[in-house]
Amino acid sequence: LPRRLDAALVKLCPGRRRQELRAAIGEGRVSVDGISDGLLPTTTVRPFCRIALDGIIVHERRAYYVLLNKPAGVVSATRDAAAVCAVDILARSGQPTDSSTQAADLVAWRGELCIAGRLDRWTTGLLLLTNDGRFARRVTDGGGSVEKEYRVATRLPIDDLGAARPSCAAVAAFAGGLYLPDNQRTCRPAKLSQVAGVAGEGADRTYLVTLCEGKRHQVKCMVNAVSGGGNRVVALHRSRVGGLVLDEAALPAGAWRLLTEEEVRRLD
Ligand code: URA
Repeated sequence: LPRRLDAALVKLCPGRRRQELRAAIGEGRVSVDGISDGLLPTTTVRPFCRIALDGIIVHERRAYYVLLNKPAGVVSATRDAAAVCAVDILARSGQPTDSSTQAADLVAWRGELCIAGRLDRWTTGLLLLTNDGRFARRVTDGGGSVEKEYRVATRLPIDDLGAARPSCAAVAAFAGGLYLPDNQRTCRPAKLSQVAGVAGEGADRTYLVTLCEGKRHQVKCMVNAVSGGGNRVVALHRSRVGGLVLDEAALPAGAWRLLTEEEVRRLD
């Protein structure tokens, strides 16, 4: 859809002349998302909007923003010949947590979705899917402004990381922008802390990593870079993207819901 309202109308109303459509805008006969006051031929329109002329809808496209609690083993893709992918899950989970008609529509429209920030096949947790490409790009790597938080379990303790000492070498390396020799790149500053107060097996090998970028296998590569040989990530779970925290009681693995308008605005 062209970004200027007059150009969009020319495309949407074949057979009508540009002059006539510009006049209709001035006469208040055109509305965008129900509003006709203050529109100009040069007004910018977003692809996801409803445009009407003389009360007849000439364009309507809805944006979908889905939050899925991705189970292990599911591929972050919209199509895969061999494996179950995230979009399949939306149909398979049956009744979505959000049972609005919008959610029912989404099942029909799920072919349009793309992944906003992929997770590896065996990584679990918060995965966003949308048909809004701009939103997906922003969340994936929007200039480093959207934080992602991961709970990480490692086979061995990460050397040096005792009792959340802020001066320990691994924490400092994460904070200073870790250089990954295999990828030949320097990461943006990231946070590494020990998950405090978790009793039981593995408590000394469970960490929280906060990043503001999303490169391939990034957490695993970063953990490898600060660990001694023989260590590796054994479980990885994304618990937060920006201000969006995964509520696992409300949304168990495999369940999904639509984001609210407020949540989309905060991430966008
Ligand atoms: N970092 C990884 O290594 N894997 C993921 O799935 C996400 C971040």
